[in-house]
Amino acid sequence: MIVVAIDGPAGAGKSTIAKALAKRIKLRYLDTGAMYRAVTFAAMNRKIELSDEAAIAKIASDCQMQIADESISIDGLDATAEIRGQEVTRAVSVVATNSLVRTELRNRQRKWVGDHGGGVVEGRDIGSVVFPEATLKVYLTASPMVRAKRRVEQSGGDVERIATEIAERDERDSSRSDSPLMKTSDSVTIDTSDISVDEVVDQIEQLLAKKRDDKKASQ
Ligand code: C5P
Repeated sequence: MIVVAIDGPAGAGKSTIAKALAKRIKLRYLDTGAMYRAVTFAAMNRKIELSDEAAIAKIASDCQMQIADESISIDGLDATAEIRGQEVTRAVSVVATNSLVRTELRNRQRKWVGDHGGGVVEGRDIGSVVFPEATLKVYLTASPMVRAKRRVEQSGGDVERIATEIAERDERDSSRSDSPLMKTSDSVTIDTSDISVDEVVDQIEQLLAKKRDDKKASQ
């Protein structure tokens, strides 16, 4: 089973690259950030305080989550557009510090990959915690300004303000005690600031081919 873990901070290009890679190597793609966002959306929709960890964990454990390549619904409600909104984006990294939520979503992610016979999985803790035995671990990064500009191109807003929000989210994601965003020693870092999506996908494909050759040689 092939599992490619793609981790990195907000705006590093993870979704675009993970989707393009999945298409190229004919695997399914899983956006784990969308899962944290969907739980956040459901909590806000039900007017649950983000500090009510038990109530939010209950959503994560009891909800029906339907994840497709381009859409996500939670308890029958299509949340595809809402999870990208500012409210959810500002709150999600707080929900992501909830260990009960993380345990639940981690289990769902592992099950999803098992059910689909592998996949390209993007997030923050995929190579470090969810799939420490992944076939290949890629850590994508880009300069803070490039990352902010990409977000502005996608969803509008003021670059300086978005840069500040991204920095705050990255700080929360990197400093939380449960499965923080981090580079593992066995991951390959690619800076996407100045290279095209195709070039990044080419690089990852070459890394995968090398892994396959190395494995064959050692058998
Ligand atoms: O990737 P995206 O920006 O959609 O992720 C939203 C948030 O979900 C992140 O800022 C982080 O707080 C959380 N997340 C996480 N672990 C993952 C994926 C996302 O904590 N594997």
